Amino acid sequence: MKVSKDHVVSLEYRLHLGDGQTIDESEPGQPLSYMHGRKQIVPGLESQLEGMSVGESKKVVVAPGQGYGEHDARGIQEVPRGMFPPDAQFQVGQTVSAQTAEGDVIPITIREVKGDTVVVDLNHPLAGKTLHFDVTVREVRPATDEEKQHGHAHGPGGAHDH
Ligand code: ZN
Repeated sequence: MKVSKDHVVSLEYRLHLGDGQTIDESEPGQPLSYMHGRKQIVPGLESQLEGMSVGESKKVVVAPGQGYGEHDARGIQEVPRGMFPPDAQFQVGQTVSAQTAEGDVIPITIREVKGDTVVVDLNHPLAGKTLHFDVTVREVRPATDEEKQHGHAHGPGGAHDH
């Protein structure tokens, strides 16, 4: 069976940014499961997985525009120090979680700490980066009707919280 739309794919992956240093990977024996063709993984990776067979491995290089997007200068913002807990310790380059007005938790990166303000970067930490994936397809199966309705994979490695 090959990777194609509305199939649940179990994938072992390792991500680096070109220097070989791993920044993310699936746990050993616990591949990521996702439903193919539903934009659950970055587009440049999804398109390269199309047609792969079980057991097949591949190196996939994804340009920023097909990954987490180009870095947007408008995402650099200076915010009052008071928006953070008084005891927060800031390190330049550190990524922290922040809650938006809508209640979503997003990663923001500390760029600069000035007296009363902090310069933060609201871009995804991987925006502007070329992504290098080493992937191995471990399993491919047709999605169930329920999964197709929900738009995501169930079971190990898939969605649990609903
Ligand atoms: Zn579901």
